[in-house]
Amino acid sequence: MQSILNSTILLDTAAVAPTVKQNILNILYMFGSISFIYGIKMLGKPETAKRGNLIAAVGMAVAIFGTIFLYENEGKALGNHIWIFAGLIVGTVIGTLMAKKVKMTGMPQMVSFFNGMGGACAALISLVEFNHLSHAGNFNDAEPLHLLIIFLGLVIGSISFAGSMIAFGKLDEKIKDKTLPLQQVVNIGLLLVILVIAFAASFDMITNPNVLFLILGLSLIYGVLFVMPIGGADMPVVISLLNSFTGVAAAMGGFLYDNKVMLFGGILVGSAGTLLTVVMCKAMNRSLTNVLIGNFGGSKAAAGEAKSMNGSIREVSISDAAVLMKYSKKVVIVPGYGLAVAQAQHVCHELEQVLEQEGVEVKYAIHPVAGRMPGHMNVLLAESNVSYDKLVEMDDINPEFKTTDVVLIVGANDVVNPAAKTDPASPIYGMPILDVEDAAHTIVMKRSMKAGYAGIENELFYSPKNRMLFGDAKKTLTELVSELKNI
Ligand code: NDP
Repeated sequence: MQSILNSTILLDTAAVAPTVKQNILNILYMFGSISFIYGIKMLGKPETAKRGNLIAAVGMAVAIFGTIFLYENEGKALGNHIWIFAGLIVGTVIGTLMAKKVKMTGMPQMVSFFNGMGGACAALISLVEFNHLSHAGNFNDAEPLHLLIIFLGLVIGSISFAGSMIAFGKLDEKIKDKTLPLQQVVNIGLLLVILVIAFAASFDMITNPNVLFLILGLSLIYGVLFVMPIGGADMPVVISLLNSFTGVAAAMGGFLYDNKVMLFGGILVGSAGTLLTVVMCKAMNRSLTNVLIGNFGGSKAAAGEAKSMNGSIREVSISDAAVLMKYSKKVVIVPGYGLAVAQAQHVCHELEQVLEQEGVEVKYAIHPVAGRMPGHMNVLLAESNVSYDKLVEMDDINPEFKTTDVVLIVGANDVVNPAAKTDPASPIYGMPILDVEDAAHTIVMKRSMKAGYAGIENELFYSPKNRMLFGDAKKTLTELVSELKNI
């Protein structure tokens, strides 16, 4: 018995003994995986984020070129180099041009688009692999687990692709929120149908190969239905959830090819995306279950029913605003999406420096969903060299508003809307906000009385403590800075 075991082990070892190329490739994959971990860790802090991105990109390049030149299957190299490099060149040129041309305000859309491309790649891998199985004979002859991985990669990748494209359209304000009657029931029902078909086809209960296209079509429809009704202030959660879907779909590809770096990268993206989703859910005060069944509270349709405002707004002139701030002890700046639109981050930093020269303490209050992508305000302010220790997260700055003389709200709206605390009918009700109304004075800098992303009126604008400073943020801040210098 022992000798049979020994000889089996020897035979196995001989059959799977890795070649020199495979050994080198495994080392490169390990290097790639480690660089992903380091890269992601460094993305956690603004000061190391750029370097982290670069390290992870180098790891990815090493893994890609290692695979192209060293991968072997049963002694055969990858081949197809012309196709592979043509694809690489086209992708690199398009990606570089898009990244160079995109405005800071268009970044969230681009992130959504690229995430969708990741999902599409994962779905395409499943299509290709299923095709291989069908060409080799009846697809049901394959291992059920192998088929299940193919189908799950297809389902998750297609949902991520379709959902990300809808998110792209919504962030670009080309697609409006739309809720069908019984949307939640339809969503859950459709997801169950897709999963049942995928399981049935994996375990020999469906033999028609066209089942692949049925699963593809239904998953794409589900992706659209999943994201379509989400509106109000809830998009950040769904964007990070779609991100994690793409990671999981890529990990399925890693299982299929037994490719460690693909599996590892996919799991990292999946888990990082899931963690971000949980953090975002917490920031938005939504439960993950609500996210998963597309049961978001806020849609712009509901926003139409927002209550009408009492009182009237009061404006402040540049010179009065400058005097108020100059003679303050503490000023907190609340940056929002409008700061990115106006590209006013540099002049905002200048205002902070001018005030500090006058002996005023200045801090920035960072709401987790301010702007249009996670970390949007941190990236924006880091670009203008605002010191990181001045950026204070919502939970830490909220108690400080009571001792703040002036809060200057630059192009922010939803993240300072008290309706989130006071109006149960509001689509953003329950979302934690910056408690700016605790400060002695607030000044809101925006162009008009128009609503923010959630499409609702803001009671803060009508508060007796508040003054409106209308105009484009960059222009108004520039005038404020020169006024402060002249007082
Ligand atoms: P909002 O979208 O609520 O408000 C931005 C305000 O900026 C608008 O009211 C607009 O008013 C003003 N504005 C626009 N352009 C300018 C300009 N050039 N100069 C001055 N003001 C300007 O932004 P917030 O940052 O407060 O909130 C973010 C919202 O986006 C939240 O609802 C969040 O859920 C959502 N969201 C966030 C994502 C994320 O990941 N962070 C992703 C997707 C959505 P006016 O037109 O009158 O100037």
